[in-house]
Amino acid sequence: MGEAGCDVRDIEEAANILVNARHAIAFTGAGISTESGIPDFRGPQGLWKQYSPEIATIDYFLQHPKEFWLFYRMRMSTLFTAKPNRAHRALAELESMGVIKAVITQNVDGLHQAAGSKNVIELHGTMRRAVCIACGRAYPMDVVTRKIDSGQVPPLCDECGGVLKPDTVLFGEPVKDFDRARELAMISDAVLVVGSSLTVYPAAYIPLFVKEMGGKVIIINMEPTELDYIADVNIRCKAGDAMEKLLEKIIEMRKQGTTVTQ
Ligand SMILES: [Zn+2]
Repeated sequence: MGEAGCDVRDIEEAANILVNARHAIAFTGAGISTESGIPDFRGPQGLWKQYSPEIATIDYFLQHPKEFWLFYRMRMSTLFTAKPNRAHRALAELESMGVIKAVITQNVDGLHQAAGSKNVIELHGTMRRAVCIACGRAYPMDVVTRKIDSGQVPPLCDECGGVLKPDTVLFGEPVKDFDRARELAMISDAVLVVGSSLTVYPAAYIPLFVKEMGGKVIIINMEPTELDYIADVNIRCKAGDAMEKLLEKIIEMRKQGTTVTQ
């Protein structure tokens, strides 16, 4: 594969798999949101090069909610202005065409929904919302942001006075909706991985489940991933380029009604 870039044959092969799939899903990671200006926290320019990951652990949050929220508030300023990019939009389009049945994501930015994706499983939660750790009441993040900006740090629950926590999965917490994601993976005969290096578990089990059940695996990622060896197609280029080309190809194949079966 090497420096394959957006190889036309790879795109064709991926399109062919998706068009012929009975139940295809997408699995996405930070790499799909980098074109939206959201840094990959694990990448070379990532957040964890500047901050200790300890700040994003549940223990740190429980012990230092004030420091945690001051850090989180700063991080949110980038995320809240971010807009979905062409990769998110192409994926939403594939869902509306019925080609992709669901998106399982490791991202917490909410950009899939903003792009129009309907069936989204957020394994690591969402930063669009916070929940009270005492009573579980949920608050939209803009309400929480206003509390912080008016000096209430950490922000507190209006009902019970409990501390609010972002509805994201912190280090040391279990992922969300994993059973539902696994069930979806088990009934899928294709998975389109976009922008994940597939190093974070249990999330990275999703493509493995599809493969184990005899399904096809397509990986779109700039860098080599941990699971390249299980992929039927590896597309090593920008998520936006690859997804635009893939969508074009699928639309073209459907128009012609000529799908190449292998
Ligand atoms: Zn409460």
